[in-house]
Amino acid sequence: MAASIRVLPPGVIDQIAAGEVVERPASVLKELLENSLDAGACRIDVRTAGGGMELIEVSDDGCGMDSSDALEAFKRHATSKISSLEDLTHLGTLGFRGEALSSIASVSRVELVTRLRGSHEGTRVLVEAGVIKEALPWGAPEGTMVRVQGLFYNVPARRKFLRTQATEAHHLREVMDRIAVLYPEIGFSYAHEQRGSLEWPSTDQWAYRLRQVLGEECFSRLFHMESSGRGCKVWGYLSDPNYHRSTASGLWLYVNKRPIQDRILLGAVLRGYGQLLDRGRYPVGVVCLELDPREVDVNVHPAKREVRFADPRRIQEEVYLCVRRFLKEQPWVRSLELRLSRDLPQVSESPGKAFENLRFGLNQRVDPSFSLETHENHTDGAQQESVRYLGQAAKTYLIFETRDGLLVVDQHAAHERILFEELKLQRQAQQAPSQRVLLNQLVELNPSQEESLQEIRTPLRELGWVIEPFGQGCWRIVSLPSWLDASRCQELLKEILDTRMGNKSDQLEVLLATLACRDAVRAGRQMGAMEALSLLERMRRVSAWGLCPHGRPVFVEIPFSELRRRFGRS
Ligand code: ADP
Ligand code: MG
Repeated sequence: MAASIRVLPPGVIDQIAAGEVVERPASVLKELLENSLDAGACRIDVRTAGGGMELIEVSDDGCGMDSSDALEAFKRHATSKISSLEDLTHLGTLGFRGEALSSIASVSRVELVTRLRGSHEGTRVLVEAGVIKEALPWGAPEGTMVRVQGLFYNVPARRKFLRTQATEAHHLREVMDRIAVLYPEIGFSYAHEQRGSLEWPSTDQWAYRLRQVLGEECFSRLFHMESSGRGCKVWGYLSDPNYHRSTASGLWLYVNKRPIQDRILLGAVLRGYGQLLDRGRYPVGVVCLELDPREVDVNVHPAKREVRFADPRRIQEEVYLCVRRFLKEQPWVRSLELRLSRDLPQVSESPGKAFENLRFGLNQRVDPSFSLETHENHTDGAQQESVRYLGQAAKTYLIFETRDGLLVVDQHAAHERILFEELKLQRQAQQAPSQRVLLNQLVELNPSQEESLQEIRTPLRELGWVIEPFGQGCWRIVSLPSWLDASRCQELLKEILDTRMGNKSDQLEVLLATLACRDAVRAGRQMGAMEALSLLERMRRVSAWGLCPHGRPVFVEIPFSELRRRFGRS
């Protein structure tokens, strides 16, 4: 049966709107915090109880309101922040709809105490279920206090949808964290009945606030990144690729200082990490985007949780490039190096050994000095080394104990990276040791191999390969880098020539990568303690961390803190 159409009474309209704006206690907190930020507060104190269902109270030292604004504020669509749609294009505030206070007040009991900055007297307003019960002059400090009690007390249907107090408290804390982390210049305190209180004093160091909010352990795995281009600035802190979670909840995204959720941005960050992260794993960190307000529509979600970009592709690209650059620079590698150079035992090596070492992968030859005994003698010297070799797993992974946790190194990837870096260094120093091959090694090349040889003869020569034509597709290898196994050089040359060398500028890199890969110690070979430690030392010396030349990671670090967490010890 169709009922006749009627316009809903204002109270019902407010409650319906409240359903969109106020999903749960955390949404109330978010709106109140945003109002305090918009009011220019330097200090914001928050108290909650009963997962926010009993109490959410936010006090600030912002601009405050006079007595008439204090009443106006509770009207639907009452805002001091915009006066026309046009204003949205240069919005400098977080709020703009004038919906929050009226929505919150329609589903709870609100007490507002406020005093306009510079005025003599404050105002107190009591509102219950959207009805103003009292408005009186009141003694109060400058600024505003909003106390929300009995959320959804008059809409039991909505109360039923709330989760346990603990879950709601968790969401409250998340809102607190996500906002506080972005405003270090503002001092925050947060008191939760069951969980004690937090105090984040104002600071001019963003890193300091990050550490306060995220905790020491998490912060130590984050590194700064920044870039700006094409009318958009990207900056933040991201985790090293060895530190990740199973959900995206640790990756906080902001657009123009507004916490948002956005698939496009999230996708761009993940694409940046690429294969460094397994499927279903997410980095941790804070990614902020700043762009012209005209380029982003913030008015697309009732809780302002989402935005729409005028040019999403460009934004995506900027974020992706910033993450890529961050990963390429590998700041976490420098931090590991620093720690290792402090802690790594001194593996004594005679000067000539560095080149000699290049051999041990190729010829499967282990230098006698790399024996366990030497290692024991070495540590006998009562030196308390903080890096210990624990052993090899699956004949592929070398496991070390460091001060901070376990370091697992892929022996092939690591060795490959070392050779690559060492070859590069040698070339830069023009000291590729070249040795004449006494037996003229002849090698037959097919036309396409000959063609690539013409292309890369110069870089090959720089590495110590001298190859001369012998006629009829036949070539003569005259000299060879001394660390190469001469008996295999024809085979190796063909392999190099068959590898696509790409454009000229990275020909040498590819060449080096190919050589390094061929020579690197294979997975599946056993390694002794001294050999393993020496490998680590060489990694440190030539900065062979991060990725192998093919883009696979070289090491994985498992901090003790993670082990503690997984064993339920912390
Ligand atoms: P909006 O933030 O979208 O303007 P709200 O309903 O959240 O809408 O707030 C309505 C108005 O009340 C604001 O525009 C502002 O003028 C005033 N107001 C709310 N909270 C505060 C506060 N903490 N300090 C000063 N003014 C406030
Ligand atoms: Mg607001």
